[in-house]
Amino acid sequence: MAESSIIPIPLRCFDCNGSSIHAFDLSGDGWEALLRENSQACHLRMPCCEALVTLKRSRLGTNFFAHKAVGDCKWAPETEEQLFLKRLAVEAGHQAGPPRQKSWAKQPTASSGRPMY
Ligand SMILES: [Zn+2]
Repeated sequence: MAESSIIPIPLRCFDCNGSSIHAFDLSGDGWEALLRENSQACHLRMPCCEALVTLKRSRLGTNFFAHKAVGDCKWAPETEEQLFLKRLAVEAGHQAGPPRQKSWAKQPTASSGRPMY
């Protein structure tokens, strides 16, 4: 992949208390509420340089945070594809719920590496 095709997108920002907010943790309504709140209060800050934040949605439908004014900030880049996969992982975790006990997992088998007597 060519370097120029990588689109870095931040998924995290800080609120006025310094608490992290992750874009993929918010539901559609939560994102809209945060967007309205930030448009009035401008209380969100980028984790990299404390610049003001604007809330955006990528072409793949990923919600993310962006610098309100583009400066010369050198924050660690994440590609849109990486963030899309992260979002899928988080959503899958939410849907799967707590891990279930697998009854077959504890039974000894001949492939366990120990001799069967
Ligand atoms: Zn920054």
